[in-house]
Amino acid sequence: MGITKDLIKGIVVGVISDIIVGFLLYLFPSLPQVPEIVSPFWWILLPVVFVAFFVGLGLMRGNGSGAGLVAVGTDYPKHVQDSQDFQKFGVWWRGTLGRLYRTGDLYVHMEGPFCPNCATKLSSNKNEKFLGWFTEHTWICPDCEEEYERPKKFLYKEKNAAKSIAKKKFGIT
Ligand SMILES: [Zn+2]
Repeated sequence: MGITKDLIKGIVVGVISDIIVGFLLYLFPSLPQVPEIVSPFWWILLPVVFVAFFVGLGLMRGNGSGAGLVAVGTDYPKHVQDSQDFQKFGVWWRGTLGRLYRTGDLYVHMEGPFCPNCATKLSSNKNEKFLGWFTEHTWICPDCEEEYERPKKFLYKEKNAAKSIAKKKFGIT
């Protein structure tokens, strides 16, 4: 499915690039390279190159997605020492400080993100725009259906970032 979409995207880009080149030639008919660009070879090659580029890009992105999801995997502590609710990236997080065993190490367990409106656990959501050219990553509330934009700089790493904040609040490193 993803590849088909990338193929369509590649064809669209190829056609658009042809139109742009055509338009440039129309504007600047005296360009020195004009005879080379105008040759049918280029008119065929250009879209093919763009198709290949975007299909490749799509495949690379496909392989790379899911990276960063393997974050913050700890069990809820059996011996809770402290708990903090705080807001970051426009949503709520809960950090719980505790130990798994009475004599075990202190660690922070993260929960969230939660909806600022109704405290429900949020779901991840992707809105694809213009044939998937742009993907808007959001959190969506299953209860009140409010949508929250995810931070681009910390995409898929929000929980880790929130954990760092929680650790600071608890005064541990
Ligand atoms: Zn909500």
